[in-house]
Amino acid sequence: MKARIVILGAGESGTGAAILAKAKGYDVFVSDSSAIKQKYKEMLDSRGIRWEEGRHTEDVLFSAEEAIKSPGISSKAPIIEELIKRDIPVISEIEFAGRYSDATMICITGSNGKTTTTMLTYHILKEGGLDVGLAGNVGNSLALQVAESPHACYVIELSSFQLDNMYRFKADIAVLLNITPDHLDRYDYKMQNYIDSKFRIIQNQTKKDAFVFWNDDPVIIREVAKRKPAATLYPFASAFQDGVKGYVEKKQLVIETKKRLFTMEQDLLALTGTHNLYNSLASGISAKLMDIHDENIRASLSDFTGVEHRLEKVARVRGVDYVNDSKATNVNSCWYALQSMTTKVILILGGVDKGNDYSEIEELVKEKVCALIFLGVDNAKLHSFFNGKALETADARSMQEAVDKAYRFAQKGDTVLLSPCCASFDLFANYEDRGNQFKNCVLNL
Ligand code: ADP
Repeated sequence: MKARIVILGAGESGTGAAILAKAKGYDVFVSDSSAIKQKYKEMLDSRGIRWEEGRHTEDVLFSAEEAIKSPGISSKAPIIEELIKRDIPVISEIEFAGRYSDATMICITGSNGKTTTTMLTYHILKEGGLDVGLAGNVGNSLALQVAESPHACYVIELSSFQLDNMYRFKADIAVLLNITPDHLDRYDYKMQNYIDSKFRIIQNQTKKDAFVFWNDDPVIIREVAKRKPAATLYPFASAFQDGVKGYVEKKQLVIETKKRLFTMEQDLLALTGTHNLYNSLASGISAKLMDIHDENIRASLSDFTGVEHRLEKVARVRGVDYVNDSKATNVNSCWYALQSMTTKVILILGGVDKGNDYSEIEELVKEKVCALIFLGVDNAKLHSFFNGKALETADARSMQEAVDKAYRFAQKGDTVLLSPCCASFDLFANYEDRGNQFKNCVLNL
């Protein structure tokens, strides 16, 4: 029997890591301070992996050679601090899985747009005929696939929490979409700590690897100048500038990776809005680097159906479009949603505020929004910011009430947009629940 590996947290990533560790002959023990979902218990039991829930048995944990931490557990959690004090290395599931795979790794991070870009890239590669797996934050464990259904390449969504415990793992293609303040509570409220975490995406890269990034992000540009990445750089931007490899010119999306230019009419892109142009450029560059044929890339960029709860078109009711952007849990993503609107908007926003500064969307609200519906338990901050700004406002304490009020405000040709800027757990289980309730209410109008 090899050394002991302990896994902290038995969700998707922890269970996957446990299964891979067991397959590699380790003495595996899984410990979760909360209740473990039945599905994961069964997966562990069927492979003879020991687990505990509702506690951490320290004797067992502290005898481990290494610990694998789920991204949801803070590095400040007492049990993690204790492990570190005892010099037990704490790594992420992705780091662990990377040791047992020589597949090509395409890794995507950023403050916003990760899931969309990950799903879009996966779609292009799969339709392009590659043996590709989808992994990371999107909900499928990389370790589980490496253990039981390996692929030749993976598209992996990485959050900063996963990146924090990655050390030797290398992305063959690293994509960094943008960096705006988020999750600062887990980074000692220091923006630089969060930035450093995001930039781990390029660690260990060499000239043979690719670093794809948004060239108009001031933070990224400053850091690239400072860090001088070893990888080959593939910056992208909305218009041509010196050195960029992806841009739009004369309504054509252009990608320069190899000798030949890839071009495509911008109007044919399935995903609309400036933010999605960036996501399409990042995915297109990655697909070109993976040698997908141009016609396949064009077809996939134009037939992608989008991801649920991200600017998702729900229905048109009496000439009014209803759009579900429940995943917009910060002000920046709502900014992009508003920016992509071509009609007058009734905006539903509110929930648990993570320290929002609404002045970021003030201009766009003035320009495009005719009514605001505040959907939250405590709407005081929204009222104090928006009251007196010549806008109709209304409060709602449930999704039904919000949709009913929006329906009454909306006139033919308008769009009702749910893009809350906030987390959802004051009134909903999570953002999916919020989005699903919105869709149900709309479909029952
Ligand atoms: P993440 O996985 O990083 O949270 P998602 O793809 O789930 O990102 O999108 C989250 C929110 O951000 C959605 O409201 C979406 O419309 C918006 N968004 C998507 N791509 C971008 C981008 N490149 N820049 C800013 N906002 C974006």
